Amino acid sequence: MEGNIEMLNNSIVTLNIGGTIFKCYAKTLTAFPDSKLAHLNFQCDFYDSKQKEYFFDRDPVLFSYILDSFRKGAIHLPNDVCGTTFKEELEFWEISPRYVAPCCWGALYRSEGDKATMNALIQRFQQNPNTLLMQEKKLGIRSKLWLFFDEPVSSRPALVWSVFISCVIVMSTVVDFLSTMETFQEDVSEAHSRLFSEFADTVDLENTTLARFVTRIPQKFPMVTNVVCHTILTLELVVSFIICENKKVFGTCVFRHIATFGYLSYWISFTICSNLIYLDSMYAIIACTMFNYLSIFKCARLFYLTRSVPAFRIMRLTFESSKQELKILIFLLGILVCVFGYVMFAAEFTQNAKITNAFKAVYWALITLTTVGYGDVVPNTAAVHVIAGACAVCGVLVLALPVGIIVSKFYKFYDYYDLAMRHSETFVKPLISQKAK
Ligand SMILES: [Zn+2]
Repeated sequence: MEGNIEMLNNSIVTLNIGGTIFKCYAKTLTAFPDSKLAHLNFQCDFYDSKQKEYFFDRDPVLFSYILDSFRKGAIHLPNDVCGTTFKEELEFWEISPRYVAPCCWGALYRSEGDKATMNALIQRFQQNPNTLLMQEKKLGIRSKLWLFFDEPVSSRPALVWSVFISCVIVMSTVVDFLSTMETFQEDVSEAHSRLFSEFADTVDLENTTLARFVTRIPQKFPMVTNVVCHTILTLELVVSFIICENKKVFGTCVFRHIATFGYLSYWISFTICSNLIYLDSMYAIIACTMFNYLSIFKCARLFYLTRSVPAFRIMRLTFESSKQELKILIFLLGILVCVFGYVMFAAEFTQNAKITNAFKAVYWALITLTTVGYGDVVPNTAAVHVIAGACAVCGVLVLALPVGIIVSKFYKFYDYYDLAMRHSETFVKPLISQKAK
């Protein structure tokens, strides 16, 4: 304490910070008792006895904020300074960040959030084996072919191919839809109709998909187009599986599994349909119809084409990093659906013909809370009309809060992706050097 004698009176202390002179009362420096400035004395290394001042080789601009904090008793930092830099300054002066005023927490911690966002983006890039492959200078023929099939952004031909595959998928889907229209259907052949008439009695031919299937089938044009489309898609899948050097990479994409399931369903359906006369069974028709519908899963192929589109990639990253918000959303929605559904059921089940059980009421609550409101189930009593209003308002609020957070995260990731792309010198090169290790 004897060394600190200067601090105990009202004498003026001279501080030389990187060439700029600051002067203050000695007692001002005791505002934060744990700090370096509170323990200054003539014996310390920083004291220059000739100039009668304390010298520190620090930034004077930032120090002016530090010194001001001693005068005010709370730390306020400039909004345009990187929080990480200011934290380093606080560490040097041994001032606890707990003295930072709440109005400046944002400025202090924003840079940490930014760093986390950037790390998440960089990791996302590192996780993509195709990005690493594209950065290699000498590529084997297999790798080149793999990039051609799997990475639309790798080259112009790859982009053209991916557009072609997208068109094939869209065309086969449109053809699927067209074949449900009567214009593109024809009556079943005589051999088929004899087969169908045998079990027509066992099938409810009134208003069922099965009934339409047994009386009318798609014309030759949609059938042939679909076979051609699916042959191209299946061949593409098989070839890309054969040329893929790392089969693990091939298996990691869940959309590819779904698409494979779609192609497989189509071929099973096709095989059964072509052999219906020999199979001679109602179950064959049911299986054929069912697998035909399941073949719509081939559209998942479109999803793994969009993987290389930055917006989709960032969307996925946003959902992955918003697990907490999504959990809150589902949890809150679940509670409200149960509460409002149960209230609706309790109030109306004797008076409302549409609400035959609690699940119907829960369904009504879900449709109202999500602001869809089909209007197929509506409240009858005045009291439940009020509850329905409250339910709709709660829905808007509950959806808006977590969705807002998720959307702002998406914007943040998108902004940073843009910055990272511009800053690609430091963004891509570390990836290569890390791979070389
Ligand atoms: Zn402040």
